[in-house]
Amino acid sequence: MPVSYPSSLHINDQQATDAGQEPQANLSAGRLIVFTGPSGVGKGTLLKALRQRYPNLDVSISATTRSPRSGEVHGKDYFFLSRDEFMAMVDRGEFLEWAEFAGNLYGTPKATLANQIAAGRWVILEIELEGARQVRRTFPDALQLFVLPPSLEELEHRIRQRGQDDNQSIQQRLHRAQEEIQAAPEFDVQIINDDLDEALQKLETAIFDGDRSYALTSKR
Ligand code: ADP
Ligand code: 5GP
Repeated sequence: MPVSYPSSLHINDQQATDAGQEPQANLSAGRLIVFTGPSGVGKGTLLKALRQRYPNLDVSISATTRSPRSGEVHGKDYFFLSRDEFMAMVDRGEFLEWAEFAGNLYGTPKATLANQIAAGRWVILEIELEGARQVRRTFPDALQLFVLPPSLEELEHRIRQRGQDDNQSIQQRLHRAQEEIQAAPEFDVQIINDDLDEALQKLETAIFDGDRSYALTSKR
């Protein structure tokens, strides 16, 4: 289903508001897909595999105040910002959504996303629960997907064997995971990431719903 373009995402919405008009949107082809699930469940792994198969899908690059993990690249994995830089973007209204997670701030910058949707692209937002709820209010038509672990024990095992988070961060993530899992029924589709290939298959089905024509066009 095409996503209608909410005024809050319009790059020039302030100009329209100043002129006393409801900002206008002239796009219909873009699609927004929200991809949520507890930290360590395998969202990044699934998205990497999905994009290898379908390079035409875009994944939004978030901003965060978290420190880069080894191998993470500024501008590719995240925009790594100081808290002051992040809050300045909040004050300027530059995020579609933002939230605090495990002691750090994360947010989806509006500007690039607006251009991608305007160009008719399909864009995946890999974000936590509070952000997903904010997007649901702004984009009620966005497809909302939730990834579940086979068990909490397996989730803890995955976070630990990833070896990228300190013990405090692991505890915060596991605590938050239980709250997030409770919210899974709010989402359109729930995918259990037990066997990776099976989960990837379900993800493809949920996104394309039998029509891979967009995904199979060459990257624009
Ligand atoms: P997230 O992006 O949700 O935080 P990651 O993609 O970083 O999670 O995955 C966390 C860890 O779990 C990684 O070490 C990854 O290789 C592993 N993992 C992901 N999916 C599976 C799966 N289906 N079975 C076993 N391990 C997995
Ligand atoms: P991590 O630190 O493991 O990369 O991410 C921690 C959590 O933040 C994950 O659940 C991830 O989906 C979420 N996250 C990443 N980017 C954003 C964002 O832009 N907004 C929100 N709300 N959450 C995000």
